[in-house]
Amino acid sequence: MAEKFSFQLMATDGKARRGVIRTPRGEIRTPAFMPVGTAATVKAMMPESVAATGADILLGNTYHLMLRPTAERVDRLGGLHKFMNWSKPILTDSGGFQVMSLSDLRKLTEEGVTFKSHVDGSRHFLSPERSMEIQRLLGSDIVMCFDECPALPADEKRVAQSMRLSMRWAQRSRDAFGDRPGHALFGIMQGGVTPELREESAKALVEIGFDGYAVGGLAVGEGQEAMFGVLDYAPDFLPQDKPRYLMGVGKPDDIVGAVKRGIDMMDCVLPSRSGRTGQAWTRHGMVNIKNARHQDDPRPLDEDCTCPACRNYSRAYLHHVFRAKEMICGMLLTWHNLHYYQELMQGMRDAIEAGRFAAWEAEFHAQRAQGDIAPL
Ligand SMILES: [Zn+2]
Repeated sequence: MAEKFSFQLMATDGKARRGVIRTPRGEIRTPAFMPVGTAATVKAMMPESVAATGADILLGNTYHLMLRPTAERVDRLGGLHKFMNWSKPILTDSGGFQVMSLSDLRKLTEEGVTFKSHVDGSRHFLSPERSMEIQRLLGSDIVMCFDECPALPADEKRVAQSMRLSMRWAQRSRDAFGDRPGHALFGIMQGGVTPELREESAKALVEIGFDGYAVGGLAVGEGQEAMFGVLDYAPDFLPQDKPRYLMGVGKPDDIVGAVKRGIDMMDCVLPSRSGRTGQAWTRHGMVNIKNARHQDDPRPLDEDCTCPACRNYSRAYLHHVFRAKEMICGMLLTWHNLHYYQELMQGMRDAIEAGRFAAWEAEFHAQRAQGDIAPL
């Protein structure tokens, strides 16, 4: 087991990268998809089951955990890994994005953000220093800088001001993080859809020096075309020898497009959230299990999928438990979706290693274009 945090690039194919992140809590094979464990749980899944899908790392949310059960309580109980029974690496976000999207009555100053909890209305303060403290108390392996992110579209002046504030906060995050062997701190590039601002942001972050770099400020309502537009050039501003993380992405085709453009890590609630609302992602696109066409269908969601939902249950059963609002529906569909996402990542890792990413991508799109199997 590695004692330090490190990243090794093992192969590239075009801009797509195959690598490994080593941490004292285990290796993360990249490109990596990180399931989201918002409130110290990936909803509807046992941690053992999340590991069985092939996940090497989970994401935890600072905003949710600081409000409930609080970082201090998690620390007293031995840290987030022990608390939630997950021994592999954990990445925590900084809380910044969710303060902006979820809390009430925010006040933003140079110092930080004051806000009211969406849970009980209590007042809280988050700053770069407090965010670093919370992520340390949680025991996070990969810590994210505290930043501010405007929703898109936003005018360029606002994006520039926000980006420069985030860069000052990045320096404060770095200073507050200190020297913690085995733990990593990632900087977050901002700058909206303006290449000059993205470049300025990347230079500021590289000057400070981080263990990895996120492309931030995307997946905030700009659409896939605009996101890929930024990803066509922004990762090139970042060091080759550090991992690159695209936050909050995405649908399977977003993920494939991001990996193609040089992204190494991603996270999204989509596979787990979709699972709880009756949607399954397969090689052939999205299956809506609530649709009446499934009610007499004895076939699995995907004949070639080796997840428990596909090995042991029919579409008819999944349709029935969805209609009956049984918990097992969300459990099985979430398992399937997380399994599918991890298979997708494994497929890309293998393809990059073999130097056949373009062919793999063509097959990915061809299978989706076929659509779901015909009704019986
Ligand atoms: Zn399956």
